Amino acid sequence: MVEIEILEKTKDYMRFIVKGVNVPFVNALRRIMTSEVPAMAIDEVVILENSSMINDEILAHRMGFIPLGTDLDSYNLPEECTCKSEFGCNLCRLTLTLEAEATEKTITVHSRDLKSENPDITPVSGKIQIVKLAPEQKIKLEAYARLGKGKDHAKWQPVSMCTYKYLPQIKIDLERCNACAECVKLCPERVLVDIEEGIGTQNVIKCTLCMDCVDACPQNPPPIEISWNKEAFVFRIESNGGLPIERIVLEALKILNQKIKDFSNQLKKVKKK
Ligand code: SF4
Ligand code: SF4
Ligand SMILES: [Zn+2]
Repeated sequence: MVEIEILEKTKDYMRFIVKGVNVPFVNALRRIMTSEVPAMAIDEVVILENSSMINDEILAHRMGFIPLGTDLDSYNLPEECTCKSEFGCNLCRLTLTLEAEATEKTITVHSRDLKSENPDITPVSGKIQIVKLAPEQKIKLEAYARLGKGKDHAKWQPVSMCTYKYLPQIKIDLERCNACAECVKLCPERVLVDIEEGIGTQNVIKCTLCMDCVDACPQNPPPIEISWNKEAFVFRIESNGGLPIERIVLEALKILNQKIKDFSNQLKKVKKK
């Protein structure tokens, strides 16, 4: 049975333990989260005026990496949209405009200056700097955002971090340990601590499985044993702010489920032949 234990959770970050699964499963989940769960990002920019120091291409590239809110219930991926139009429609394309001019002093143009046609889909942070304009410099542009996938371009990744590691396990044979504390001094995560009976552990989950403690131990064989649970993983996921973490995980599971169904259907067809 699969078990999940949430260790830490904020709006854009989650750390949890998942038990009862294996590496192929967690790796598939991680890869789908980074490369197949859609996210909204600016894909085309029409520069109407740009007298800033940044050339048009760099400006457009910067715009693409501004994380936008993502609404997977209202927008379609362009390739799946019923409009079948290369220009898109209001179900698969969002227009944002930007117009800024410096008059007397230098100004910084931020993501909050982008005006979206849909007030619910805006940059996730208004503080992202886009360009600085010196007096008499101006930019005016139209940007078109759409849903896309991280496997086509990193700007469409809904996560800024998605990692997992095995759940560590530490065993110390206190009868053989001479409490020299060499391992305590070396542990970079302060997982090992001096205790009255010899050495003990704290926050074992922080152990990076580096094995420095085992290598440093003067005893042979070392009384400290580092291992990991092959069916338990610590996941860390950080959203870029466009989609809530739970939705990213649920979308990834939905995609994985669909892949399994497609595979099974194909297999049935092969059997029938
Ligand atoms: S394996 Fe590394 S992180 Fe884990 S307890 Fe040993 S020294 Fe510390
Ligand atoms: S280095 Fe080895 S003997 Fe020394 S405290 Fe650690 S486990 Fe015990
Ligand atoms: Zn469309």
